[in-house]
Amino acid sequence: MTIRMAIIGYGKIARTEHAPAIAANPDFELVAVVSPHGAADAGVPVFASLTALLAAMPGEVDAVVLSTPPRVRRAIAAQAIGAGLAVLLEKPPTATLGELQGLIAQARAAGTCLFAAWHSQYAPAVAPAAALLAGEQLASLAIDWREDVTKWHPGQDWIWEEGGFGVFDTGVNALSIVSALLPERLVVEEAQLVIPAGRQAPIAATLRFAGRNRTARFDWREKGEEAWSIRLATRSGREVALEAGGARLVVDGAEQPLGPFAEYPAIYARFAQLVRACAIEVDCEPMRILADTALIARRTVTGDRG
Ligand code: NAP
Repeated sequence: MTIRMAIIGYGKIARTEHAPAIAANPDFELVAVVSPHGAADAGVPVFASLTALLAAMPGEVDAVVLSTPPRVRRAIAAQAIGAGLAVLLEKPPTATLGELQGLIAQARAAGTCLFAAWHSQYAPAVAPAAALLAGEQLASLAIDWREDVTKWHPGQDWIWEEGGFGVFDTGVNALSIVSALLPERLVVEEAQLVIPAGRQAPIAATLRFAGRNRTARFDWREKGEEAWSIRLATRSGREVALEAGGARLVVDGAEQPLGPFAEYPAIYARFAQLVRACAIEVDCEPMRILADTALIARRTVTGDRG
């Protein structure tokens, strides 16, 4: 039976990825959209809130994807789980770790499906890199995640607000990849956050993890080419590099052949399985690392706004 979907939060990622991935997957049918300021191009009924949708279409929706900014997700997801709907959360799934754990507990008690999708975990380099690294011991890890915020997030004021994540809105993608690659938990030992004056979220951050040579650098002030790179070395001497956000894999200097870049089709293929099994799949590790970072970070203020 087709899974009748509603998209809640019809912004950039809903238009460029979720709507096309739903349309391309015969397991799903898009039946409604929730968007407080309208979505004339959605091609399905549009509602101002989930409450209005549920009132107008009782029993006509099976699942929702939340592609709003993270700060508003918990309340909407809790309402959806309460209505018996399967829930797919864009990344980062919630504004806090506690909110995420609360939703897991609620979905478990209700017996409903909850999927926190980290799209970068479906980048083509991730599964082969994880297979290469299985059973290996880590000698070093260097995350280098830099881009121009004015190019990638124009007009998105929410990213600078409390719960907006700042540079971690994209940086958490790297942490989600590492979580998929490494069995061990990364423990944040030292962190610096650079916060633009008058704003609440960082424009740049550096982290040092416990163990030797384990670092991460995130920066939204990059004016040149983006760097979305994760380089790992193993104690056996192997060097594994995921470049371009996981679109490329280089092992011991040699480029590896990979499948196509199809993160969102893969997310919906997985979601269909989870919906049918009423299952919960949530990787909390990226949120745990960010929560730990917030607890121990040294903060500096900058006049630089990217
Ligand atoms: P965006 O373009 O600002 O879109 C967010 C949308 O959420 C807007 O359409 C907004 O509607 C809607 N919204 C806000 N509050 C809402 C509420 N209470 N109920 C329903 N809708 C609400 O942001 P985005 O770039 O798509 O990012 C959204 C999420 O996707 C973020 O968590 C981001 O990390 C993730 N993501 C983004 C990208 C990307 O390339 N942009 C890639 C992967 C993941 P109004 O405009 O009508 O207020």
